[in-house]
Amino acid sequence: GQCIVACPVGALYEKESIDEVWRAISSPEKYVVVQTAPAIRSALGEEFGMAKGTRVTGKMVAALRRLGFDKVFDTDFTADLTIMEEGTELINRLQSGENLPLMTSCCPGWVKFIEHFYPDMLNNLSTCKSPHQMEGALIKSYFAQKMSIDPRNIINVSIMPCVAKKFESAREELSMEAMQDVDYVLTTRELARMIKEVGIDFVNLPEEDFDNPFGESTGAGVIFGVTGGVAEAALRTVFEILAGKELETVDYNIVRGMEGIREAQIDLPNGLTITSVVAHGLGNAREVMEMIKSGEKEYQFIEIMACPGGCVTGGGQPIINADYKMDNDIRLQRAKAIYDEDEAKVLRKSHKNPYITRLYEEFLGEPNSETSYKYLHTHYVKREKFWK
Ligand code: SF4
Repeated sequence: GQCIVACPVGALYEKESIDEVWRAISSPEKYVVVQTAPAIRSALGEEFGMAKGTRVTGKMVAALRRLGFDKVFDTDFTADLTIMEEGTELINRLQSGENLPLMTSCCPGWVKFIEHFYPDMLNNLSTCKSPHQMEGALIKSYFAQKMSIDPRNIINVSIMPCVAKKFESAREELSMEAMQDVDYVLTTRELARMIKEVGIDFVNLPEEDFDNPFGESTGAGVIFGVTGGVAEAALRTVFEILAGKELETVDYNIVRGMEGIREAQIDLPNGLTITSVVAHGLGNAREVMEMIKSGEKEYQFIEIMACPGGCVTGGGQPIINADYKMDNDIRLQRAKAIYDEDEAKVLRKSHKNPYITRLYEEFLGEPNSETSYKYLHTHYVKREKFWK
């Protein structure tokens, strides 16, 4: 099934962590925090017999609370934060002309692919950690300070649609003072198993809200779950920053869709034009990289997701077809759930998130500040060409 795409990068780490998470929840000295990626809400319901692409955000939060997590946070919040950091990086690189094209770095399947096969282009990757890693780092610093909790007693659990995220969370460079940003990654399927283990009647749960300060997100944070979403979220913010005023446009349909490689020429408010490309599936990623290497194409901004369709059909998501394949219908239904949630949000641009503003005021200073670099950015390593 989908694992053909997602597993080669995470196979060795495709270890279940359910027992460890139960142990953490039941130990009184541990403060156990959970966060959920944008794509989980579009698919978790399928494990409980709900129709494909039913949006279950509120029930998912209610279930996590009943499992015993001390805080239930949303990775969408740090998706908004990623846009602040990566959008600023993009503007700086466009101005300096250095390390272009800027390539997104939130998909660990793609990051590992480039580390293995195109290591001479590692400087093109955004230095932003992926959103759940940013959130993990902030929970053990900003949040721990606010709550007066010893970060060593915090256990961070991420619910991800992805098997490659298990590998990512174990990367040495994603830790500080011998503490990993994220301690355990559970897939959507593992979460469903935990909910079933304790017999929660998921379908009839009430709808509940995430906890703050990492519970509010804009529509831009939500669309990270689908191919083209990161590019669109970045455009919503970069456009307004460059224009220096509020703009009417929110939907950038030009980067949406299920076409494998989608190019777009976008005229920015400052008179510049950027050429962006969105690709999903590693075969398409390779094609894009080869076109860049040969000089056939020149881009300024590139979004790549390893899984066809993006995270909505990631390797850790429910597999509902008898032949274990994700088909286009599942992709489209789940993508629709994501776009519906985006549209239902009052705020749809990352820089409008009031909790993001507060986080910069209280802790980070400004995007790409020294503190941001300390907690939210990372680096990459050249790896052997063949899987080891
Ligand atoms: Fe994981 Fe999403 Fe990348 Fe797939 S597209 S490998 S689910 S981050």
